[in-house]
Amino acid sequence: MSKIVFFCIPAHGHTNPTLGVVKELIARGHEVTYYSYEPFREKIESTGAAFVACDAFDAEQKLDPKDAVRVGKDLAFSTKLLVDTTLALNNSVCKEMERLQPDCIVADSMAVWGKAVALKMGIPFVSSTTTFAFNQHSAKILKQSIGELFGMIFSMPKINKDIKRLQDAGFPVKSVLDLIQNDENTETVVYTSPEFQPCSETFGEKYAFVGPSVRPAEGTIAKEKENLIYISLGTVINDNIKFFKNCIKALKDTDYQVIMSVGNLVDIKELGEIPANISVQEHVDQIAVLQQADVFLSHCGMNSVNESLYYEVPLVTYPQTSEQGGVAARVEMLGAGERLLKANPKAIRETVEKVLNTVSYKDSAKKISEGFKNCTGAKGAADKIMQVCGK
Ligand code: UDP
Repeated sequence: MSKIVFFCIPAHGHTNPTLGVVKELIARGHEVTYYSYEPFREKIESTGAAFVACDAFDAEQKLDPKDAVRVGKDLAFSTKLLVDTTLALNNSVCKEMERLQPDCIVADSMAVWGKAVALKMGIPFVSSTTTFAFNQHSAKILKQSIGELFGMIFSMPKINKDIKRLQDAGFPVKSVLDLIQNDENTETVVYTSPEFQPCSETFGEKYAFVGPSVRPAEGTIAKEKENLIYISLGTVINDNIKFFKNCIKALKDTDYQVIMSVGNLVDIKELGEIPANISVQEHVDQIAVLQQADVFLSHCGMNSVNESLYYEVPLVTYPQTSEQGGVAARVEMLGAGERLLKANPKAIRETVEKVLNTVSYKDSAKKISEGFKNCTGAKGAADKIMQVCGK
């Protein structure tokens, strides 16, 4: 029996793909402890893992809203938060690891505190990457902008000061890249297929592209019309009420069944009158919806796109962040979707209908789905982790 410790950030998109892996490890008789956040307790405990809450240590949760929008956009600011969280967790987690003596730490690529603790204590480590793996080749394809690169260079002095704080606390890190990049020396599980990952052939043998870990549907959704259009901006940056209103304007009184998941930041009452063919909900059983959907108008979070393509549903892409822009670019490049260039009602209706009525989008989605289904999945990820435990 091996002891494995998982670390994740408080995001469904980063947590969901790991749940099947945790279940698989537990089914094989291993012990899993999972460091996460209270809103995820139930999900994680349902896998059989022991849950440890990190809420008290997370610098991001204490932010006021004006700073919260800088997370992920301002690299120096984001690094400071990551370092603050790592240092706040330092003592308690290191003590816990001494007691637990894990055979392996598995940390989300953004839960840098997991990697930092593994490096500090010499514990075998696996990076869990729920986005595309990133190197100089894939970065080009994913069109990371020059502006972002400049931003990164100019924020380096501030970042280096934070890295020094980590070094002073005994963490053997030389640069922020040691923590955030996918490097050739780190054992890495990537939850997508080699076909969908851009330039997968440029990643070394330490990379396992295990495919998306799509959870089962909780129930079933009734398909009421010939075509079902699903709309969601995910669970994080989803408060664009104007966009949802425009979707309603675009698709009201049509022959389409529309299901729109708006998250918990939008007050559904503020959307005005909802036409009979449109159902608006805070949260839906997305897997059940995708099993029936014909088009998904999506923000292109990696999980939503993986799930959509798994069920052969082509996309209208409407990315909100540069990471989602990269995922959208890949979908478009492989012919499985079309970008929504303007979010006005006319453009929404036209783009949705173009994807709905052009068979090549569906065919491309089908091809990507086949690639996903040929992957090793949660079993492959568990094999990789066990291989690292055994070293
Ligand atoms: N999700 C869901 N119901 C909803 C909206 C989202 O189950 O109404 C799930 C979705 O299936 C996916 C995750 O939440 O697994 C969203 O992850 P993604 O990476 O797509 O976007 P994020 O929310 O991280 O921006």
